[in-house]
Amino acid sequence: MPTLVFLEHHGSELQKGALGVLAKAASLGDVAALIAGPGAKALAAEAGSHGATKVWICEDEGVAQPVPQPRVDVLAQVVEEGGYDTVLFANSVLAADVAAGLAARLDAGLNWDLTDLEQRDGEIIGKRPALQDSVYADVGWTGTPRLALFRAGSFDATPTGGGDPEVAQVSPSYAAHSTAVTLVGQDAEESSGPSIEDADVIVAGGRGLGEPENFALAEELAKALGGAVGATRAVVDAGWYPYSAQIGQTGKMVSPKLYVALGISGAIQHKVGMQSSGTIVAINKDPNAPIFEFSDLGVVGDLHEIVPKLTELIRTRSA
Ligand SMILES: Cc1cc2nc3c(=O)[nH]c(=O)nc-3n(C[C@H](O)[C@H](O)[C@H](O)COP(=O)(O)OP(=O)(O)OC[C@H]3O[C@@H](n4cnc5c(N)ncnc54)[C@H](O)[C@@H]3O)c2cc1C
Repeated sequence: MPTLVFLEHHGSELQKGALGVLAKAASLGDVAALIAGPGAKALAAEAGSHGATKVWICEDEGVAQPVPQPRVDVLAQVVEEGGYDTVLFANSVLAADVAAGLAARLDAGLNWDLTDLEQRDGEIIGKRPALQDSVYADVGWTGTPRLALFRAGSFDATPTGGGDPEVAQVSPSYAAHSTAVTLVGQDAEESSGPSIEDADVIVAGGRGLGEPENFALAEELAKALGGAVGATRAVVDAGWYPYSAQIGQTGKMVSPKLYVALGISGAIQHKVGMQSSGTIVAINKDPNAPIFEFSDLGVVGDLHEIVPKLTELIRTRSA
């Protein structure tokens, strides 16, 4: 299974989700990585420490902007040159577009929203949650190259202790339509902690917070735990918190190690976005709230009383 992993980076940071996919692929066999964009070369060693034995680098002007189509060209070229029969992606807005574009370009099958990958009797099998995440389905490919896009947080981005990878430069040639798009502007959202896609800890707030200003409770607790803040659709629809923080069926799928739900009822549309989290802690004043049915720890009480004390306690302990 000669495998290639698309490693997305922003600035000088490789995306944690992509490093997790790389580490998983390295546990199954030999794996190479592709990093395309400014500063790619400086990140090759980190890719090596997560298991890549070879890193393809492209710092060409054509991939300077985070747009998908030029990356499809670069990937298609590398897949052909390297003879890769499996190409893996960690889900993100950019990676999803690149994966879809590559599938079209190579006439390849793309399995979407996977949470695991294994080798069984010489076959590669993907695992995909189905029926609103109530079961896992085995999925495969009928031909090569096999393309797969993994759900955020599927794997730990733990360094595998790999050595110095071989570095290969890609000199891309682009299809005419690939360079037709120009990025006219880009704004970075101001935030101090990790993103909800990357965070090991998420503190999510729902309508039980009472009013938008009370999101400060979730933010303070997230800060104390080194985590990110998420939200339900009810509160983002009400304008209490940005849409980018919405978790659930029509928001983001997350699986942090710890998920703390504050004043969230646990509707099925929210549940499907977070139920694969490692440990789920819920604080809700209603003992019959559905969220308690899938929480590891349920605290029945008023979050306005509990959360400030909890945050204070965590701050004291970590100090
Ligand atoms: C097609 C569709 C797609 C959807 N997609 C999503 C999605 O992606 N994500 C999503 O989240 N929702 C989604 N929804 C909405 C979903 O059905 C729920 O309406 C929503 O998740 C409820 O949000 P909530 O838990 O914040 O609010 P509520 O259901 O109103 O729950 C608030 C909870 O706070 C508790 N509470 C109140 N006061 C306190 C207090 N002082 N202390 C402690 N607890 C308190 C209450 O007991 C209650 O359980 C979708 C719905 C549809 C129809």
